[in-house]
Amino acid sequence: MVRVRFAPSPTGYLHIGGLRTALYNELFAQRHGGVFVLRIEDTDRTRYVEGAVENLLRTLAWAGVTPAEGPYLADDGSIKERGDHGPYVQSARLDKYQAAAADLLAKGAAYRCFCSPERLEEVKKAQAAAKQPMIYDKLCRALPPADAAARAEKGEPHVLRMRMPDSGATMFTDAIRGDVSFENVLVDDQVLMKTDGYPTYHLANVVDDHDMQITHVIRGEEWLPSTPKHIVLYLALGWTPPTFAHLPLLLNADRSKLSKRQGDVAVEDYKNKGYLPEAMVNFVALLGWNPTADREVYEKRELAEAFDLGKINKAGAVVSMDKLNWLNREYLKAMPMEEIGRRAEPFFVESGILKREGDKVVSAATGAAVGDMIARAAELEKRRVDTLAQLPEATAFLFSGPLTYEQDALVGKKSDAQVAKARLEGLLTFLADLAPEAWATAKTLEEPVIAHIAAQGWTNGESLWPFRVALTARAQSPSPFEVAWALGKDKTLSRIQDALRTLA
Ligand code: GLU
Repeated sequence: MVRVRFAPSPTGYLHIGGLRTALYNELFAQRHGGVFVLRIEDTDRTRYVEGAVENLLRTLAWAGVTPAEGPYLADDGSIKERGDHGPYVQSARLDKYQAAAADLLAKGAAYRCFCSPERLEEVKKAQAAAKQPMIYDKLCRALPPADAAARAEKGEPHVLRMRMPDSGATMFTDAIRGDVSFENVLVDDQVLMKTDGYPTYHLANVVDDHDMQITHVIRGEEWLPSTPKHIVLYLALGWTPPTFAHLPLLLNADRSKLSKRQGDVAVEDYKNKGYLPEAMVNFVALLGWNPTADREVYEKRELAEAFDLGKINKAGAVVSMDKLNWLNREYLKAMPMEEIGRRAEPFFVESGILKREGDKVVSAATGAAVGDMIARAAELEKRRVDTLAQLPEATAFLFSGPLTYEQDALVGKKSDAQVAKARLEGLLTFLADLAPEAWATAKTLEEPVIAHIAAQGWTNGESLWPFRVALTARAQSPSPFEVAWALGKDKTLSRIQDALRTLA
C-alpha cells in the first residue's frame, strides 16, 4: 500500500513550494489508492514559531489539500490528530529517536563528538581557505568508544554523529531524476542528536518515515544531498529505504531561485490577495509537470488520475504571475455568480465598502442591506479582474450613496442637455413600468429597452450614454444594462432621478 507524507517544519507560513510538495504527495496517494500523511517536523527548537502549525493547517485546508493522517484543525479551532501511526508531531516522538540513536551507537554506525562550536568553526574556516568541502574532519571518530562513553557519563556536552563509509558511493534511483550517486567521502558525518537531546532533521526524518511505513518520499530538490545520509542510516538501522523523488526547484522569471524579494512566496499572501484555491492548486500542479500538451486548466480529479512521478521535469520550474493571473481569471469566469459573491464578501468587508451588521452585510456608505447585490457585482466585473480582492474597488460605485454628476459628462459629446433630459425621463417611465422578469439578466433588460428606443425614434447614442453615466457617474464602465441589472430596479430608478436633478 502506497503511503506518502508531507513533512513541513513549522517556520511560520506555507511556502508555495511546500504547497506543491503537499499537493504532489496527495495526488500520488490518490492515483495509487494510497494514504497521504501530514507530519510536523519541529525538532529545531531555535526555529519554533508560535501559531505556525495552526497557520499551516488553515492554509492547507484553504487549498483543499487534505491529509488522511496527521494533525488537523477541529471545528473548535483546536489541533487534533487522526491515524494509527501517531503521534505525528516530532516533538512528541523523542523516545523513538533516542532508541534509534542508541541502536546506531551500539552498532558503531554513530559516534559521540565532543568538539566545541569554536573548534568546528576553525575547521570550517581552514577548509574554506583551502577550498576543501566544508564537512566535519572526523576528529572524534578516533576516540575509543569506552572513553567517549565515560566522558558522556560525566556530563561532558557532546553530539552524536553518523559514521559515513570512508570509501565507495551511495547510489539510488530517484523516481524523477533517475540514477543518482554520491561519493561517500564527500558526505558529512551528519549530527544526529544535538547537545539539547533533540534529534536533527536527518535522524527524526528517517525514523519517522520508517515508523509511519512511508513507501515514497516526494520532496523538494534541496533535500537531494541529504538523501545519501538517509540511505546510510536506513541500512545501518536494518531498514529498507523508501523510493525517493526530488521535485524541481522553483525559479523566478529570471531563472534565479524563487525568492521573497521578487514576489510572494507564502501561500497565505495569495489567499489574501484574492486568488481562488482552485486556481492556486491548478497553478502549483503545473510547476514542473503538465498532464497533457494541449491545455492548462485541470480539475483536481483529472490531476490525480494523470499523476505520474516519471513525467515530472528535472529542470527548475518558473513561477509566472501572468500565468497565475490568467488561471485565476479562467476560474472566476467559470464560477457561478452566487459562489463568487459568497467568496468575494470578505474582500468587500475588508475594503471598507461593505460592513457586517449582525448577520447582514450592509453598504458602509448608505447602511442599506446589500443582499445578493455582491453576487451581481461580482458577476458584472468578474471578467475584468484578476482576483477577488480587485472586485470591491471595481464595483464600489454600485454600493455608494447618491452619485455626483458633471452635466457635460451626463450629456455626452454628441448630444445636448435637453435631449439627454428627455431621454432619461423617457427611460425612467419605461423602466418603472417594465415587468419584473425583465430584470432577471442584463440581456432581458437590454432587449425591451433597445426596442423601446427604436420605437420612439430615439438614437441609441443619445439615450444609452446618459443612461449609463446616470448609473455610474464614470467615463468608463460596463454597459448600462449590465449596471442596471446589478443595481436592481429601485437603485436604478433613483439614480436616474438624481441625474435628472443635475440636468434640471
Ligand atoms: N522538514 C523538512 C522540510 O521542512 C522535510 C523534508 C523532507 O520531506 O524530508 O522541508
